[in-house]
Amino acid sequence: MSGMKNQVKQIVSLSKMPMRQRHLLKQICRLADERDLAVYLVGGVVRDLLLKRENWDLDLTVEGDGVAFARLVADRYRAGLAVFERFATARLTFPDGLKMDIATTRRESYAQPAVLPTVQPASIEEDLYRRDFTINAMAVQLNSGQFGRLLDVYGGQRDLRARTIRVLHAGSFQDDPTRIFRAIRFEQRFGFHLERITLRLLAQAASTNLIQQLSGPRLQNEILLLFAERNPVRAIARLAQLKLLRFLHRRLCYRKNVKQMVTAVPKALAWWTRRFPDSKVDRPIVYLMALSGESSPAVLAGMIRRLALSREQAKNVSAGGRRVDRALKRLTGEGIIRPSQVYRLLEHFSDEAFVLLLAKQISRQQGMGLNLLKGRLLAYVKNRTIKTVLTGRDLQAMGLQPGPQYKIILGKLLDARIDGVVTTEAEERVFVRKWLGEQNVSNDCR
Ligand code: ATP
Repeated sequence: MSGMKNQVKQIVSLSKMPMRQRHLLKQICRLADERDLAVYLVGGVVRDLLLKRENWDLDLTVEGDGVAFARLVADRYRAGLAVFERFATARLTFPDGLKMDIATTRRESYAQPAVLPTVQPASIEEDLYRRDFTINAMAVQLNSGQFGRLLDVYGGQRDLRARTIRVLHAGSFQDDPTRIFRAIRFEQRFGFHLERITLRLLAQAASTNLIQQLSGPRLQNEILLLFAERNPVRAIARLAQLKLLRFLHRRLCYRKNVKQMVTAVPKALAWWTRRFPDSKVDRPIVYLMALSGESSPAVLAGMIRRLALSREQAKNVSAGGRRVDRALKRLTGEGIIRPSQVYRLLEHFSDEAFVLLLAKQISRQQGMGLNLLKGRLLAYVKNRTIKTVLTGRDLQAMGLQPGPQYKIILGKLLDARIDGVVTTEAEERVFVRKWLGEQNVSNDCR
């Protein structure tokens, strides 16, 4: 392309990259030289090198047969190889766990908007042209003699300096509406702004039914990636401002109380992970729960279907609404509540639901209630590990006929343990006998 010829040769330093990655790139460069293939580092990693942000994704692209080259690298370095023929890409996993993607430089064509494209081999310039934004459409050559040479045909550096997100052509969002969400992701992550025409094109694309044509898993992926960013609160507000939340469900609203709850999530997450560093909370799902926490069961069910959420994610999201309200009322209310009652109230809550409980209480800005809730959550988590000494086998040995009452008796016994009413095995036995007596349950042990 003509832009290339006028480009001043600019070298990007890879010196900040970890040794291992740099060394590997050098070796690969030698292999490519032997085969006379042009190889480039491409996309987000180049953007982040220029921004001096850490991102050591090794995304490579080869002018020529990228998959054949990937096989060669895999053979030479005993790496595992997964090939995606349809997209002319391969993923390598090196013995030390390092991963690398190698693709063939290609052009893409979209038979219909919003579906995955068909691809054909093409030049590096065309490969860069098919990318989402100018800041993601730069490459760094890796061949010796050219090592580190930046290819910036579409003004990526200019836009990085101007902190701008800009599409490469007017049909970009139509070709691939996931770029609408990607634009917001990068805008919010870097604190950049959407270039004027890009914003207009985005708004236009968002006003049509293009996003509706995206498959559930693709939409889910974009939404959860957005919610996995460091500060999803601003990203969610931006989705609302651009009227994009309706694509999760047409009746999903960003009212004041929802906004307050979403805004409280970072604080709730911070408290929870400080107290329970081993807890693996699914952060993006917590944001989705907060966002939909005031919605009706019908809206939740519709959103779960639209996003094709997994069973576990769906369970969390559908538990987010009313159950949380009910639990919160009891846990922060005036009345006395025994530890075992707290336990029963919370025993089916996931860690995500706990964070949501906290966020909801934080959003209400009632310090007293929040302290009460935190205390009860801490006590609950501690009580979670309590077990009764007696088991079903002991009940049988005590002469009780096996049946559904085992679950009831052992449940009562656990409650008594949690409340500190019984503390030893002997006391457990006394408790069981007494309870059986009161219930008049037939057994041979009296
Ligand atoms: P992140 O830092 O979030 O990983 P990234 O820019 O590395 O961002 P990836 O999704 O890993 O994003 O994609 C790598 C590169 O592939 C992008 O930088 C971009 O050049 C290209 N790309 C990814 N998704 C699209 C898309 N939907 N349309 C066009 N180009 C894309």
